[in-house]
Amino acid sequence: MAASALLLAPVTPPTYHRIVSPTLTLPTGTAQAIPVGLLACQRDPLLRQLSTNIVSCTVSQSAPPPSGKNKKGSSNAAAKVPTLEVILHDTVLFPEGGGQPSDVGHITTADDKTWSVLQVKRSGGHAVHYVAVKDTAKDIDSFLPGSHVKVELGDDGYERRYDHMTMHTSQHLLSAVLETKLNLPTLSWSLTTYPQPCYVELPRPVTVEEIFAVQNEANKLVFEGRSVHVEVEELDRAQLPGVQTTETGRAVGKALPEDYTGGVKRVVVIHGVDRNPCCGTHLPSLHNLQLFLLPQTESVARAASSTSTARLYFFAGPRLLAHLGASHAQITSIANTLSCGAPQAPARVVQVTDERRRAEKRAEDVEIELARLLAKQIAHELAASSEEGKEVVTKHVHRTDDASNALGFLNSIAFSLVDAAVSAGKRFVVVLSSSPSAISSTSVNTLLIAGSEGTDAHVKAVGEALKARVGVKGGGKGTRWSGKMVGVWNERKEGAAVEEVLRGVGA
Ligand SMILES: [Zn+2]
Repeated sequence: MAASALLLAPVTPPTYHRIVSPTLTLPTGTAQAIPVGLLACQRDPLLRQLSTNIVSCTVSQSAPPPSGKNKKGSSNAAAKVPTLEVILHDTVLFPEGGGQPSDVGHITTADDKTWSVLQVKRSGGHAVHYVAVKDTAKDIDSFLPGSHVKVELGDDGYERRYDHMTMHTSQHLLSAVLETKLNLPTLSWSLTTYPQPCYVELPRPVTVEEIFAVQNEANKLVFEGRSVHVEVEELDRAQLPGVQTTETGRAVGKALPEDYTGGVKRVVVIHGVDRNPCCGTHLPSLHNLQLFLLPQTESVARAASSTSTARLYFFAGPRLLAHLGASHAQITSIANTLSCGAPQAPARVVQVTDERRRAEKRAEDVEIELARLLAKQIAHELAASSEEGKEVVTKHVHRTDDASNALGFLNSIAFSLVDAAVSAGKRFVVVLSSSPSAISSTSVNTLLIAGSEGTDAHVKAVGEALKARVGVKGGGKGTRWSGKMVGVWNERKEGAAVEEVLRGVGA
């Protein structure tokens, strides 16, 4: 008999959602919307779909702003799409809040049409679904109040939500361990775009040792698979503690939004670890979270208070796997280029960098030596020049050079040339030109005109003539003139033009 495995869909335990007040009940009348705080997505974070009823539907006057933190199904297009604002009796789609971005998903109406939910936002105490339609006037007929609908996350929506829950629950765990182990409050946190690391903001930088200690402690709790549950009761604003501040006056965390009218106080509890007021969706257990902290913090200057805070970045769950995959691909690619195994790559990089530095130094030394030799040769030819009756002798030398700074080498020749030619006792003007080995219409050719003392006017005249005849762009001062010509340098054409210009010098 072939082996077979039975995979059960993960289910949220019935003890997850606890109404701890004897007087708080879930509204059951389907004409009434369940408030944010008691939504199906908050009672059962693993629930993917739900049959429910429409409470109200209006044409959206203002398209929802893109939430900016979407992993998939970004609602950037929402501004252009006709949108309906739909309130349901209950929903599996989380409206953004508590640092957690909105879910995306679908609504299937009673006429069997399926519509995309671009974003869900809390308005007062209710979750408003922004539903994309073709024609608001016509399509609103599908959303009659009281009619039956199915609301679901769908595969993409669930993947996105699962990532958000993983990072959000990990943040609660991380903040709790930072607090108990290092006495460090979390000032704020950011659930960044997948697959970037999320971060918590702390009042001071933490050392590598502290980071490892926190990571170990957090993962001990992960391996134990501590359970997570939610406790809800009526909200009594008068009894809420105010937002705490640090010594520098910086707020720790965020207060309950002033405009929240859902009337529910919600506390997320990690068994034996943490109790934290929060509206987000949280996994029922720390199982599989596997927290990884980047082993350094990033300082962020706060101009207003002339203090700085530190960001500690973390990965967990799907993002951690994505990070491991990307890091592995990067190191493998580096190792392949270096023809070594991944573990040897760091040492090879040091070796290659060192070799390159020495090679550059050697190339520099050799270049100087070569420039001197070339200069000597040119000086020799200038001295032997038989241009009768010319007070200034001239020469053109063309080179092929793929150096990134071809002008630098031409300058080095010119520099040595002045020394070498002084002994020859003749006044001179030379044109040094340089082209890359691969010639195309976009090749950049470099030119340098250099003269001996007192040839300023000749150098300038040659520069001007080359501008006009060869299309060189450039300029100069005294006995130096440099420029560039883009395109194909042909010795029989451009080279010949240079020779001709030079024949006219000092004649
Ligand atoms: Zn939270």
